Amino acid sequence: MVVSEETKIVNLTIDEQQVKTKEGATVLEAARQAGIYIPTLCYHPSLTPYGACRLCVVEIENMRGFPTSCTTPVTEGMVIKTNTPQLKELRHNIFELILAEHPKQCLTCANNLRCELQEVAARIGVEQISLAPIHKDLPIYQDSPFFDRDYNLCILCGRCVRVCQEVRGAGAIAFTYRGSQALVGTAFDKTLEESGCQFCGACVDVCPTGALIDRHSKWLGLPERSVITTCPYCGVGCQLSLEVNRGKVVRSVPILENSINQGQACVKGRFGIAEFVHHSERLTTPLIRRNGELVEASWDKAIDLIADKLGRYKGGQFAFIASAKCTNEENYLAQKFTRAVMQTNNIDHCARL
Ligand code: SF4
Ligand code: SF4
Ligand code: SF4
Repeated sequence: MVVSEETKIVNLTIDEQQVKTKEGATVLEAARQAGIYIPTLCYHPSLTPYGACRLCVVEIENMRGFPTSCTTPVTEGMVIKTNTPQLKELRHNIFELILAEHPKQCLTCANNLRCELQEVAARIGVEQISLAPIHKDLPIYQDSPFFDRDYNLCILCGRCVRVCQEVRGAGAIAFTYRGSQALVGTAFDKTLEESGCQFCGACVDVCPTGALIDRHSKWLGLPERSVITTCPYCGVGCQLSLEVNRGKVVRSVPILENSINQGQACVKGRFGIAEFVHHSERLTTPLIRRNGELVEASWDKAIDLIADKLGRYKGGQFAFIASAKCTNEENYLAQKFTRAVMQTNNIDHCARL
């Protein structure tokens, strides 16, 4: 825990463990800092606590009932229990209710690596559901070019709605209807495009189930490894994790733990990389125009041709437009080449492509 000199420290006891945290933290955050597991489904560190799934209930001395730890701020001397027999039974029942409207095969499905339902089921020991299943039989929305929405798998955690409103400021989706009819969707059931969606994929990334899922990668298997890199599309430099399967990039996902993009990306970084890298029309060799036709050439031949042609121009006759798609090092070389070799300051940079 990193605290500044002004930060007030609060002392509390969680499961008989002495815990220090900063004033303003929630019981859930304090428990997580101390390595104590409390199950959650609607909680996400980037979003306002919501208390909807109620899986994070705890017992707090001198407090009535079972408060949700994600919405309860810590106070000095608080004594909290997170795993009593009563809490275990309560959580088990809450989880069964959540799953009553959810396909049971989801608990054993291996297709969605990020399904938090499976993890929570394993952690709280739910193997089968005693309640009769309710099939919602909702249509699957495929109105986005990048991801599908299957609200038959939705648990109404509200993460997608909150990230769209609080983080992206788009407000493209919201809760619709009420009570047992409640769903997530667009206003008047418009398409995502009509409702102002940026296709940033933030809702997909925070969804704890398979309700929102990438169209391109969903049939490409689970990634064997991931590679952390910087998005090449513009100068913001978002940090991405490229998921790789059988030597191919299958998906790019923004990284939460970094100060640049903090789990966010735009449509290009989120959905434009995997298809771009392996696109059949991507240029992989230089092309030289011969008699009006572009023909493939070796790098040596292309560089010789460029050197020959550039040798005819110096100073103000030459200008270089560099690109935000290049790395800092490449752009450094571009300006060095322009100034030192071509002897001009005519170098500029295209910020967005
Ligand atoms: S893709 Fe982005 S803008 Fe569109 S609904 Fe999801 S979070 Fe909102
Ligand atoms: S679509 Fe996913 S993130 Fe949105 S409410 Fe349903 S389960 Fe939660
Ligand atoms: S193109 Fe989008 S994802 Fe990539 S660095 Fe720029 S803002 Fe970030």
